[in-house]
Amino acid sequence: MAILEGDASFAGLWVNKDDLTRERVLGAIAAVDPELISIEAVEQYLWDTTQQEHRVLAARQAYEQVKQSIKTVTPDQGIDWPYQVPTLPKWHEFSEGIVVPAVPRGFKLGPNGQSRNPQFKRFTSRTQRPVIRFDLCIKCTLCWYDCPDECFDPTEDGYYDVNYEYCVGCGRCAQICPVKECIVMVDELRFEDNSSPYEFWKRDPEGYIRWAEEKKGTERITYPFVTGTGVHVLEGERVPEGKKIMLKKKEALTS
Ligand code: SF4
Ligand code: SF4
Repeated sequence: MAILEGDASFAGLWVNKDDLTRERVLGAIAAVDPELISIEAVEQYLWDTTQQEHRVLAARQAYEQVKQSIKTVTPDQGIDWPYQVPTLPKWHEFSEGIVVPAVPRGFKLGPNGQSRNPQFKRFTSRTQRPVIRFDLCIKCTLCWYDCPDECFDPTEDGYYDVNYEYCVGCGRCAQICPVKECIVMVDELRFEDNSSPYEFWKRDPEGYIRWAEEKKGTERITYPFVTGTGVHVLEGERVPEGKKIMLKKKEALTS
């Protein structure tokens, strides 16, 4: 038994924050069972796949931390349980609760495509949402391609509108977008509705950019070297209209 410290975060189930938990779990596994994988192999793997020193260090740090806390537990240890062990119902014995009718899996391009279920709009669990500066978009398709909830609708002129009703706010699109300040995750409490940002932009490009920048504010949240130590707040930048600044991949993945 060993303890790997980190944030308790329900939002972490939904938000793809790159807080090095994955690297740290690999380091912890190497500490608990080095025969399964050695810490050297973990470090080599992380270096080969990312070329990022801080990921390698995170795994090593977790490895050292967990090694200090390992406690061997034998089957005869533990507390006596004087109470009756409850008998839980089997899965087929549960009575019907909430039922969400399934939709057929399918895929088609276009404004109303994708396998969305109108009975299951997942935005209510969102804590942040992506704000898109369409004037900075290079139409690379990555947000559309990578969104796990198929929220992006290709538009006739080659942009990608986001359907906020289906967006869970995972942050993946902001992480993958290769253009500086093009997609930024913003606190959900700053918004009033789920209307189409693309339609707003087409209607009033300057007004939309003003609105987007106002919502974004000046703070950009990044996650720290080690989970459990809070977040880092950096200063954002107001990129002039149409000025597309490409991020290096490493920068994009860590910003
Ligand atoms: S639109 Fe972006 S934040 Fe929303 S679910 Fe898709 S990838 Fe996640
Ligand atoms: S990832 Fe960014 S640049 Fe690429 S299509 Fe989406 S919004 Fe445009």
